[in-house]
Amino acid sequence: MATSSGRHFLQIPGPTNVPDEVLRAMAAPTIDHRGPEFSALVHGLLEDVKPVFGTEQPVVVYPSSGTGAWEAALVNTLSPGDRVLCFETGHFATLWQEMAARLGLVVDFVPGDWRHGVDPDEVEARLAADTGHEIKAVCVVHNETSTGVASRIGEIRRAIDAAGHPALYLVDTISSLGCIDYRHDEWGVDVTVSCSQKGLMLPPGLGFNAVSPKALRASETAGLPRSFFDWAPILRANEQGSYPYTSATNLLYGLREALRILYAEGLPHVYARHARHAAATRAAVGAWGLEVLCLDEREHSGALTAVLLPEEHDADHVRRVILERFDMSLGAGLGRLAGRVFRIGHLGHLGDLTLAGTIAGVQMGLGLAGVKVDPGGITAALDHLGQA
Ligand SMILES: *Cc1c(COP(=O)(O)O)cnc(C)c1O
Repeated sequence: MATSSGRHFLQIPGPTNVPDEVLRAMAAPTIDHRGPEFSALVHGLLEDVKPVFGTEQPVVVYPSSGTGAWEAALVNTLSPGDRVLCFETGHFATLWQEMAARLGLVVDFVPGDWRHGVDPDEVEARLAADTGHEIKAVCVVHNETSTGVASRIGEIRRAIDAAGHPALYLVDTISSLGCIDYRHDEWGVDVTVSCSQKGLMLPPGLGFNAVSPKALRASETAGLPRSFFDWAPILRANEQGSYPYTSATNLLYGLREALRILYAEGLPHVYARHARHAAATRAAVGAWGLEVLCLDEREHSGALTAVLLPEEHDADHVRRVILERFDMSLGAGLGRLAGRVFRIGHLGHLGDLTLAGTIAGVQMGLGLAGVKVDPGGITAALDHLGQA
C-alpha cells in the first residue's frame, strides 16, 4: 500500500465507520445475559430503539446480519405457497425475492432497470388486479444499496390503500435507517427490516424487525417453519428484559451509545445532513461529466451515490487504484452492475470534511485510472458544502 498513514477511509455503503464513543461503549466486560444489569439494558434499549424506526410498536432485535432479519420478516408472517409481490430495483431486492422463493413462497417479481425505485402506480395496478387477494405481502427495499435509488415508501403505502388491498407491507430499511426519513407507524409498514452496520454506525451483528399489530396477528397463523427467528418467544422473554438465547451483549452497549449520538444530533438534522452530503456528491459527479445511476430526481439516495462509468472503463480498476494509492474503500458494482459502477457511501458517522476528502480521493483516483474528468468536481462539492 503506497500511503497508509492516517485513518483508512471506509466509504463503502456499509459496513460504515463506527464512532469512537461506540467502540469505547462496547469495550466492556461481558455480563450475565440473565442478570439484572442485562435486563435493565434490554428494557431501556427496546424503548430507545423505537424513534429511529418511527414506531411505538415492538422491535425484535436478533444477533444476526440483515439477511437474517429478512428471513425473520418472511417466516413470521407468511405460509408456504403464499404469493408475495416483489420489485426488481437492484441486487438486494433480487436476493430477497430469491430467499422468498427458497422458503416456499410464490414470488411475483416485477422487472426493473436498476435505475428506478418501485413505481407506486405499478403497485396499485398489480394489487387492484388481484381481486381474489391472493397476494399476501408486498416487499420493498427502501434504499437499494446496489443502485443508490430510494423508493417512496409513503407513496407506496397510499397505492396499497388506493387498491383497497389487505396485503402486508414489508420494507427493508437496512441502508436507510438512521440516514433517510422513515416512519414505520405513519406509513403503515407491517414489518420493517434493518440491521446494525449501516446508518446505525455499529459493527455488523444485529438484525431488527419492527412489527405492526397486523403483522403480529398474521404471525399467529403463519405456517412457514421457524424456530430461532420466531417472534413469539422473543417478545415473551423481552417482557422480562431477556432473550431465549444469548444476546450479542456488547453490541447492545454499542447500540445504546449509537442511538444516544443519533438522538443528540436530532433525527431531522441527521436526515438533512445525509441529503446535503448526497447532493454535494451528485454535484461533484455532474461536474466531472459522469453519470449518477439513479434516473429519477425524487429517488436519489441520501445514503450513497452510484457512479456510472463510460463503457470503456472498469470501475473495479478505479476502486483498486483508489484503495492502493489513497487507502480509501469504495463500494463495488453488484450483480449486473459489476465493473460498470462504483458506489460512494456517505452514510453514518460522517462530517463535511470527510466527504470533501472522499470526493478529493475519488477525483484523483479517476485521473490516475485514466478516466478523463473535469477537475471542477471537488469545487462543485465544496461550493455545495460551504453554503451558509
Ligand atoms: C447490506 C444490505 C443487505 C444485507 O445485509 P447483511 O447484513 O449483509 O445480511 C440487505 N439489504 C440491503 C438494502 C442492504 O444494504
